[in-house]
Amino acid sequence: MTVPRAATDDEKGALTKRIANERIVILFKLAEQNLEARPELSNEYAKLIRELAMHYRIKLAKRLSSHICRGCGAFLEPGISASVRVIAKQRLRIYTCNSCSTQKKVYY
Ligand SMILES: [Zn+2]
Repeated sequence: MTVPRAATDDEKGALTKRIANERIVILFKLAEQNLEARPELSNEYAKLIRELAMHYRIKLAKRLSSHICRGCGAFLEPGISASVRVIAKQRLRIYTCNSCSTQKKVYY
């Protein structure tokens, strides 16, 4: 029988990052689901996502980070809480937050 050994510090770090990543994905789904019915709730989820990513030093995927306002932390969804301008020549999308009008440039 093998004796289970304690996880090293490196393994612990990887594990906590993975768990934080899972939480971020779950929170993102919840934010999307609640956006129309309870927008203030999805803004809270967006703030949590940002705090989690900063605390565990996780780089958010472009798909996730483009949905969070840098100015007020609101959850951005084109047509609902943000307007989007596309500049195809520069392969650029400009998201403008409807509550604080902060602009976010996302290259695609
Ligand atoms: Zn904003």
